[in-house]
Amino acid sequence: MNKLNYDDFIKSKLKISPEEIEKQLNHTKINLSKLQASFDQIEESFDCLSCAQCCKQISPILYPEDFEPIAKHFPKENIFDTLIEIDQEGDFVFRSQPCPLLETCNGKCKIYENKPMSCSDFPHLYNVSEYFDYDALIQNISICPIVYFTSVDYLA
Ligand code: SF4
Ligand code: SF4
Repeated sequence: MNKLNYDDFIKSKLKISPEEIEKQLNHTKINLSKLQASFDQIEESFDCLSCAQCCKQISPILYPEDFEPIAKHFPKENIFDTLIEIDQEGDFVFRSQPCPLLETCNGKCKIYENKPMSCSDFPHLYNVSEYFDYDALIQNISICPIVYFTSVDYLA
């Protein structure tokens, strides 16, 4: 079976926009198990290599355990001088996008086996609970096709 891909996302956005989906979602009435079921199904059926928009548009938050694999990949650089900065919230993030570890020709991560924890968890819907980040869901509808299609499926 063909997986959903980034082109499907672009075509679908013409039928129902991310803004319209945001209007229809209601934080206080989110059915968490239904949202989880939609995410699990969509996540399995989407081809992330056709997309890589998360790596192109936003930086993961980086934690101390993430620094070593990144530094190993850039042995001649002080990564805190060239690649990583502290953002307004006080989090370590990459200075620029696309991510310096993205192979833009094929959407692959150069440190895939040791990628940052935030990258592995993106789009943060693997374990939906009452504490899940609703604001991140809304923000990611227009960036991440999995979040977009999950929301469309949830609202259907
Ligand atoms: S997680 Fe979302 S934004 Fe990232 S590659 Fe997969 S579909 Fe694209
Ligand atoms: S470290 Fe890898 S998975 Fe994370 S944003 Fe960069 S390219 Fe993407």
